[in-house]
Amino acid sequence: MGGETAVYRQRLARLQERFSQFGVDAILFFEMKNIRYLTGFTGSDGVFLLLPDKGVLLVDGRYITQAGEEASQCDVVQYRDKISGIVSALGGREVKRAGFEAAVLSVELYEKLRGKLPPDLLIPLTEALTGIRGVKDDQEVSLLRMAVDIADGALLQVIERMRPGVEERSIALEMDYRMRALGSEETSFSTIVASGPNAALPHARPGPRRLEDGDAVVMDFGAVHEGYHSDETCTFVLGRADDKLREVYAIVKDAHDRAIEAVRAGAACRDIDRIARQIIEKKGYGACFSHGTGHGVGLDVHEAPRLSTLSDQILAAGMVVTIEPGIYLPGKLGVRIEDMVLVKEDGCEVLTKMSKELKIL
Ligand code: ZN
Ligand code: ZN
Repeated sequence: MGGETAVYRQRLARLQERFSQFGVDAILFFEMKNIRYLTGFTGSDGVFLLLPDKGVLLVDGRYITQAGEEASQCDVVQYRDKISGIVSALGGREVKRAGFEAAVLSVELYEKLRGKLPPDLLIPLTEALTGIRGVKDDQEVSLLRMAVDIADGALLQVIERMRPGVEERSIALEMDYRMRALGSEETSFSTIVASGPNAALPHARPGPRRLEDGDAVVMDFGAVHEGYHSDETCTFVLGRADDKLREVYAIVKDAHDRAIEAVRAGAACRDIDRIARQIIEKKGYGACFSHGTGHGVGLDVHEAPRLSTLSDQILAAGMVVTIEPGIYLPGKLGVRIEDMVLVKEDGCEVLTKMSKELKIL
């Protein structure tokens, strides 16, 4: 317990040291994953006020016992009404400028708060707070490894059931069940099993289509362990792969491999995306790669940094990101290959274990 408390104190201290840079003397957090990261509190509602010398967790009556146990290094205060709870917490501490997560707070809550606080007290922070969970510590990395292992273990069991005639949704259900049976708290997101022409939809929902000989089947899945998510995509082929499928698979695999080779601390996220994208563009499929190359994974399945053409983020050692190029040919087929990697000073370690060589079942 003592060790864990030290982790949270360190996380708070890192932010407190940056108060003057942000131009604030407090920060209000509303995003529950950020609150969990900073305090250990796993409830689904509450507000966290970070002051120069301590943290104050504000919760309603449902969570007061849980908050006291989980966030033992913070003051825990109960409110009846969230707005008045925040106003009184700020009022008693002579806060002049309170930063908040501008990307998260609803307009409604912001307007209500502003109406009850001195003008100019609330300072929107966006850039400053988006990446606070980006670099993972050793404990977080080991939780991510556990989530990956659960998902990979489930996949090995489910592969055996993939054959012509089985419905996509039955495979997805089996996958969810196996992950839960192996200890996953929930699924990272709705498991994707997309076969044949359905695989051309990057976010297809598994339906009643029955797998057929010659199908490419895109499976995108993830497990959750102590709040930490995994995210992996395998594209399997049933029975036989025709020339088109082999060509597309080889291009996506090459884009995936080259991007992973380029991952290291100091690399620009935009450049990693460009490496994957250029390989696909050069083969004439640029228009068929309709999403970014990857994203951070942690307490959220999609979090900072983003690996896309628009990203201005730089990779740092300890970040865990996905590399997931894809090619989607509407009405015909789709291939996506996704691994999770841990960024290191001089390269990266691939955390996901399933081989991404073309696998014909
Ligand atoms: Zn995925
Ligand atoms: Zn992903």
